[in-house]
Amino acid sequence: MTGYRSGVPENWFVDPVNLGVPGVRRPAEADADTALGWQADALCAQTDPEAFFPEKGGSTRDAKRICTSCDVRDQCLEYALKNDERFGIWGGLSERERRKVKRRA
Ligand code: SF4
Repeated sequence: MTGYRSGVPENWFVDPVNLGVPGVRRPAEADADTALGWQADALCAQTDPEAFFPEKGGSTRDAKRICTSCDVRDQCLEYALKNDERFGIWGGLSERERRKVKRRA
């Protein structure tokens, strides 16, 4: 139980043990070899996860604004597209926007 009330997945971001503290680099081999290594630099890890998984009809503006300043935006989007992430904002795009990107690919 995470204490978050809405649709924030249990495994979403910021397990300080596995992912490291945002902005603090871990040894190179630990980072590079994991599919989620980029999450160590995820800007959203320092913010409110609720913004990234809004209730239906809720605003995604704040989350998207954070994404525009995020260093790992490309990796994040790529990961979401590859893993068919259905919910939430990833790489600055909503689920619907990601579906569009996929169709174009
Ligand atoms: S691009 Fe957005 S959702 Fe992805 S890691 Fe960065 S802040 Fe988080």
